[in-house]
Amino acid sequence: MNTIIFATTNKHKIKEIQDKTKDWNVSIISMADEGINIDIEETGLTFEDNARLKAKIVSQCTDKFVLADDSGLEVDYINKEPGIYSSRYLGEEASYTDKMNDIIIRLENAKTKQERSARFVCAMSLYKNGEEICTLRGTLEGFIGEKIIGAEGFGYDPFFYIESNDIIGVKTDTSLGEICLEDKNKISHRANAIKNISEACKHLWI
Ligand code: IMP
Repeated sequence: MNTIIFATTNKHKIKEIQDKTKDWNVSIISMADEGINIDIEETGLTFEDNARLKAKIVSQCTDKFVLADDSGLEVDYINKEPGIYSSRYLGEEASYTDKMNDIIIRLENAKTKQERSARFVCAMSLYKNGEEICTLRGTLEGFIGEKIIGAEGFGYDPFFYIESNDIIGVKTDTSLGEICLEDKNKISHRANAIKNISEACKHLWI
């Protein structure tokens, strides 16, 4: 079984990826599991740039495969903000309740779901020994609700809504904060990104 280091310090992301790949022929471990402790500044201007940057630096510290993601929320009404700056929006110290409330206020004049359209984006990059193997993205389309609901997930999940979704049997507008990990992993941007990577790189680990 191949071991892949997931280059993030975000425990929620590790949990999602480990759950998503639990039946696959790979073992996903954290940087800490591999004894790698580095802080990487995200200086790229796209999700893909940042995913490559993180994967490359970490893969120069190990012989194992390294997977890194850069993800975030694009809200169309406000020119796709916060985008690659999602975790830094209003500053790293601001709570997600503050970040979400600020965006809700900025959308005051956007009344319809179409005007409030948004997506989660995840670019994922696979490297080995400092060399890129592939970089692909996954997305999840939805809209920004007026209410922050649910305690599942993390970050912007409680104000990001999906409409009915047959894959997880959701019939009405539901926030990702109300969706359990197993269901989020059937539809999320991160799940779609790793699915795309695994399909493109099947030859490496099957
Ligand atoms: P980064 O990829 O570590 O730069 O951080 C991405 C940021 O985007 C997170 O800290 C969250 O603010 C947001 N984000 C990314 N994926 C998700 C998700 O699945 N749910 C909620 N927020 C997310």
